[in-house]
Amino acid sequence: MGDWEGLADRALAGDAPTREEALGVLRCPDEELLALLQAAYRVRRRFHGNRVKLHILENALSGLCPEDCSFCSQSRVATGEVEKYRLISKEEMLSAARQAKESGAWKYCMVTATRGPSDPQLDQICDAVREIKEKVGIRVCTSLGILKPGQAEKLKAAGVDRFNHNLETSERHFASICTTHTWEDRVRTIGYVKEAGLEACCGGIVGMGETDEDLVDMALTLRRLEVTSIPINFLNPRPGTPLGSQPVQDPRRCLKVLCMVRFANPSRDIRVAGGREVNLRSMQVMALYPCNSIFTDGYLTTGGNRHEEDLQLIRDAGFELHRE
Ligand code: SF4
Repeated sequence: MGDWEGLADRALAGDAPTREEALGVLRCPDEELLALLQAAYRVRRRFHGNRVKLHILENALSGLCPEDCSFCSQSRVATGEVEKYRLISKEEMLSAARQAKESGAWKYCMVTATRGPSDPQLDQICDAVREIKEKVGIRVCTSLGILKPGQAEKLKAAGVDRFNHNLETSERHFASICTTHTWEDRVRTIGYVKEAGLEACCGGIVGMGETDEDLVDMALTLRRLEVTSIPINFLNPRPGTPLGSQPVQDPRRCLKVLCMVRFANPSRDIRVAGGREVNLRSMQVMALYPCNSIFTDGYLTTGGNRHEEDLQLIRDAGFELHRE
């Protein structure tokens, strides 16, 4: 039996797992999964109690990205059917933020499928955020791609709370999933975000042909970058993308990954993100033991549980919404 409780004690004392320990979590025998989840839950509970943060996504500019990320249905190389439209209006952003607030969301996340924002796009988004903060009063996260120097400061001044930019995978594996920008470009943007005083949201995707070592490297890099929030997505292979025929993950494997990320990043917001429904299937609720956050009402180009279903799932397991 692995020493999962010992790993939890060490996480609570502020120590990182070694690479071997983190690999051991990913390779936990299935018969020890409940013990592993119990240990990860002890760490989650110390920092986040039994509360769950709901995030709602808005795809504010869709299907026109010039980049070639191989998992993404909005990339220039994807051939599947996906809605294409330019940046939505300020009124549409406001209305989506209002709806998110009414659904009990803790944060409204505005995403654009771009390499990075142009200055006019950034100004339009900042303008909308100022009004959302004033009239709706909800936390706002933006995910706008690679930032140029000075852009994060503009977002901060407009009232944006958090900026999302995922590492997606390990440094080693990144070049196999994207050739139009680098892993270092992504790390640089996270640096700009933090320097501007925004919270950094940064995670990755599991199921893109990476090794266990890649997952451990990503989790330990996220620890080193001291990001506030970590979304862990599980690939939902999209038809017409280069990764469209990858298999989905085994639900028990997903849970082990989430536990490993929790031990590596004990106090952080860890979100079981895109692909939750198709990868975890009937085991979705178990992800709330290592994770304290979920997306609800679907994703950028794929559907998902409606928020009523997720509220039920949260309540049924004895968790509660994080509201303040
Ligand atoms: S940069 Fe973002 S939107 Fe563009 S292809 Fe990559 S993941 Fe998709």
